[in-house]
Amino acid sequence: MAEIENDKLQAEEKRGLNFVQQIVADDLAAGKNGGRLNTRFPPEPNGYLHIGHAKAICMDFGVAEMMGGTCNLRFDDTNPQKEDTEYEQAIMRDIHWLGYDWGDRLYYASDYFPRLYDFAIRLIKEGKAYVDDQTSEQIAAQKGTPTTPGQNSPYRDRPVEENLDLFERMNKGEFEEGSRVLRAKIDMASDNMHFRDPIMYRIIKKPHWRTGDKWKVYPMYDFAHGQSDYFEGVTHSICTLEFVPHRPLYDYFVRELAGDSVEEYCPRQIEFNRLNLTYTVMSKRKLLQLVKEGLVAGWDDPRMPTLCGLRRRGFTPQSIKNFLNDIGYTKYEALNDISLLEHSIREDLNAHAPRVSAVLNPVKLVITNYPADRVEMMEMDNNPEQPDAGKHQMPFGRELYIERDDFMEEPPKKFFRLAPDKEVRLKGAYIVRCTGVVKDEQGNITEIQCTYDPDTLSGMPGANRKVKGTLHWVSAKHCVSAEVRLYDRLFAVENPGAEAERDFRELLNPDSLRVLDDVKIEPYLAQTAQVEDKFQFQRIGYFCVDPDSKPGRLVFNRTIGLKDSWAKEQKKG
Ligand code: ATP
Ligand code: MG
Repeated sequence: MAEIENDKLQAEEKRGLNFVQQIVADDLAAGKNGGRLNTRFPPEPNGYLHIGHAKAICMDFGVAEMMGGTCNLRFDDTNPQKEDTEYEQAIMRDIHWLGYDWGDRLYYASDYFPRLYDFAIRLIKEGKAYVDDQTSEQIAAQKGTPTTPGQNSPYRDRPVEENLDLFERMNKGEFEEGSRVLRAKIDMASDNMHFRDPIMYRIIKKPHWRTGDKWKVYPMYDFAHGQSDYFEGVTHSICTLEFVPHRPLYDYFVRELAGDSVEEYCPRQIEFNRLNLTYTVMSKRKLLQLVKEGLVAGWDDPRMPTLCGLRRRGFTPQSIKNFLNDIGYTKYEALNDISLLEHSIREDLNAHAPRVSAVLNPVKLVITNYPADRVEMMEMDNNPEQPDAGKHQMPFGRELYIERDDFMEEPPKKFFRLAPDKEVRLKGAYIVRCTGVVKDEQGNITEIQCTYDPDTLSGMPGANRKVKGTLHWVSAKHCVSAEVRLYDRLFAVENPGAEAERDFRELLNPDSLRVLDDVKIEPYLAQTAQVEDKFQFQRIGYFCVDPDSKPGRLVFNRTIGLKDSWAKEQKKG
């Protein structure tokens, strides 16, 4: 079954559209809704957006942009217990960062509370809703199973007048939370469990961040969502697969609300698969727990899958969009490999990030035959992938820093970096030969000594002389010290959501952050880097300037190393 679906989806993708876009295009071509296209993105302001939400955003806003429609931003703020304006603001910032805008189509489900309440009153009057005095446990116990019918509530046949009176008093705050609910009177034997007298309203006595103390009853998501789409004139209500079984209920409420006019207009719900990523948790509840318990530094910790975390880590909107496009939209759940996301940011930064030199774990290199007072300016390409990216200057002198790992006293056979009596090229500069080392009393190398071949600089006769290794370096006299935060995956196991026996907090990667506090960076980088700027540190990886940076003290986050396991896997395959 999944395979047939898959073939169909792939055939559609060949036409250049994913299956959701194809449905929308067909509706437009058929003249449905008078040729109007209006989608919406409906976040609940109870957490920060993550990359899973980005998949929905790129679909909702993307298809509208692609086909000349509009996309609403609607805050689904039906639960005052967890919602907050901090989240509202962050959500708007993150959608803008992705490059989308809702224009003047900013809506709140709470703006529909009066209309939803009136509709509920109408359903009561029509004998299609009733107040149930049972506890949620009792109601759940009567629900039945998918194969056995449920039982009617003893309150199901309450007179209309009594229902009206009770519901109004529920909203005045006369009853305690949990003591009563309003239920739709539909069918306790329906094959679809959502039709077994679903709850429409519950009592919540906490003030709402937008409507204050006005309401004491709040609509359930299932009673608010479909009607909100209808009120806004949403033509295509695109959401994730878990809402497939809710769709008939949304259609039911909209039909009750609109009567015969649904023949002309009714929002069409289309479902696609959620994004799940390896080594990641995506549940807002778990992300909130990580933040609250201080297991990460905040919602924007660069290890978080939140959009603000990814931004701080150095991800670009384009890299996220490219990734989402590559994995596509399907009709079945899957777990996507995070190395594909990493591949996507690497490709984007490879094309756009300036190349600079930084030495993470420095050791001194002294060129004994180079004059102590001499400084030469070497020309470095800003980006060999971009011919017009230009060059910058880098000072070279008698004392440099190189990576400690780039030297071995007793190297194995295939070690093409520096070793006693071996030659390497210093990137953009001379070839040097190691002549000896200086050690401290414990035997640690404190200095590597070399001689240089003055004939090997660019433009000189020996410029093209070949040696196996090329090392990056910075001038000891001119470099600046910086902090570097080396990030790795937040979780140590591939699918932290699937480990039923263990708490997800036990699955955290203990080495997901390592801080280096004396990284040597070249002066050009120290002088030009601004917060959020991204660079390739030659031979090491991609790094982004963190907002914790202070004048004279830059802080960099490692976005991703250079080695691309995804591309390697693809080649093998
Ligand atoms: P909650 O459990 O709080 O409802 P949620 O992740 O569904 O969490 P919402 O704010 O309701 O959060 O999500 C807004 C929209 O984003 C929804 O339409 C939802 O379908 C979509 N969305 C959420 N998570 C993902 C995901 N992992 N992949 C794709 N879309 C997602
Ligand atoms: Mg939701």
